[in-house]
Amino acid sequence: MLARIGESRIELLVGDITRQAADAIVNAANSQLAGGGGVDGAIHHAAGPALMQETARRYPEGCPTGQAVATTAGRLAARYVFHAVGPVWKGGRQGEPDLLANAYRRCLELAIEHDCASIAMPAISTGVYGYPIDLAAQTALGTTREFLIARGRPSIVRFVLFSEGAYGAFARTIEAMFYPS
Ligand code: ADP
Repeated sequence: MLARIGESRIELLVGDITRQAADAIVNAANSQLAGGGGVDGAIHHAAGPALMQETARRYPEGCPTGQAVATTAGRLAARYVFHAVGPVWKGGRQGEPDLLANAYRRCLELAIEHDCASIAMPAISTGVYGYPIDLAAQTALGTTREFLIARGRPSIVRFVLFSEGAYGAFARTIEAMFYPS
């Protein structure tokens, strides 16, 4: 599925983000940048140990929630990994939407700073961190849309969803946002 914003586009697909050929892929990291399960474990496994070595060397203090940091991408096809720290869902009244929006916005800024035409992102916070997928889709897509309207880059923002359910939530949100009936 596809939505166009000026010269840019948002793409949705079901897949494994470690297999994406994009200039940058986004990791859903924890604030210690310590690695873990889910997409984080998959990215570190596919990239190889150099990714953790670089992350620990460059960012020993970790990364605050709502922010993201960049490394190279080890054995992955991408040039960069942006390690974004989304919020843990605590019911929605503890700043979760703003923190999730900030994490996505920072990744899109990093893409511009690193001259990336394409970026692939997962549904940050929707696994172990428990963020409801429909609300996460609204924030992810709303933030991306605003960013692309304001900045006109990157050319391709691809959301790589890991299940049909997550894809459905993102697809319904895109329909409501871009193709209202
Ligand atoms: P968080 O701690 O931010 O919730 P998780 O890794 O637990 O991070 O989950 C974030 C999202 O990434 C979930 O929707 C999960 O299904 C998805 N995911 C897990 N593995 C992959 C993968 N290889 N590619 C893309 N998405 C993935």
